[in-house]
Amino acid sequence: SVVVFGSCNMDLVAYVPVAPKQGETVTGREFRTVPGGKGANQAIAAAKAGAETRMIGAVGGDEFGDEIRRVLQDSTVDTRGLRTAPGRSGTAHIVVDDGGDNSIVVIPAANGSVDALADGDEAIIAGSDSLLLQLEIPQSGVVAAAAAGKRNGVRVVLTPAPAVPLPEDLLREVDLLVPNEHEAAVLTGHDDARRALPALLELVPEVVITLGARGCVYGNRDGVRHEVPAFDVQAVDTTAAGDTFVGVLSASLGAGAEVPEALRRAAAGSALSVQRNGATSAMPDREEIDRFVAN
Ligand code: ADP
Repeated sequence: SVVVFGSCNMDLVAYVPVAPKQGETVTGREFRTVPGGKGANQAIAAAKAGAETRMIGAVGGDEFGDEIRRVLQDSTVDTRGLRTAPGRSGTAHIVVDDGGDNSIVVIPAANGSVDALADGDEAIIAGSDSLLLQLEIPQSGVVAAAAAGKRNGVRVVLTPAPAVPLPEDLLREVDLLVPNEHEAAVLTGHDDARRALPALLELVPEVVITLGARGCVYGNRDGVRHEVPAFDVQAVDTTAAGDTFVGVLSASLGAGAEVPEALRRAAAGSALSVQRNGATSAMPDREEIDRFVAN
């Protein structure tokens, strides 16, 4: 089973032919609200992919918070660890262009209150196989959750996004680090993933660097390496490709898949999601991943 300790946002998404430059106004095609945030995204991806999944975090006491909670529950995520904080829910203001590329402003709001473990969190973490962490909540919260994971023998998986240098007290608790190419470059100073990978393995025992449409590279400290290509699909919205990848990867490992198989299922899950608009609403379920991998 999977527990996510992290962010929940309402994504406010504008779809445009071409994104506006600074000072420019453009007319968009469509507006959507979709529950998101890296934490909720990973939880929904894992739950849809078949993992028993719990979410620890906070939403605001507004209608966005109610909707985020409802969508998590509809995806079978256990929300008993999801608190309602005073004030607004986190929001992400996203512009997606016709190439499927995006730019995003995130306002943390309620996520800022997730700065430590609350009563009951340690028991929820201890009852899980994998703990999924990202950096959209205060670092003190991430560090406290990671330490609780380590104390209880739970596999600690960190998506180091948004990209910032990571403190030693966090890195020493992490079992698996899953940066994208940009985050790997920020952490190591190497733009080339094949050079970033060994540098990251000096920090943590196991690493996957995701490379967008070029797939991913995996390595561990025993010298095992895998390169898994992305599936060749037409991307319309790459928002949360990485979160879908991590959620499906964790669900697959939890279901007993070996690493190469779990990486392939993660690539399939994210390839399915980038072909549809909306982050969480585009995520595939286990049967769809099974069919896609079989073809
Ligand atoms: P992030 O969303 O964190 O920036 P990436 O862009 O590296 O992460 O994407 C994560 C994974 O999603 C990739 O390893 C790949 O398997 C899949 N993916 C992303 N973009 C595409 C694409 N255009 N076509 C197919 N798969 C994709």
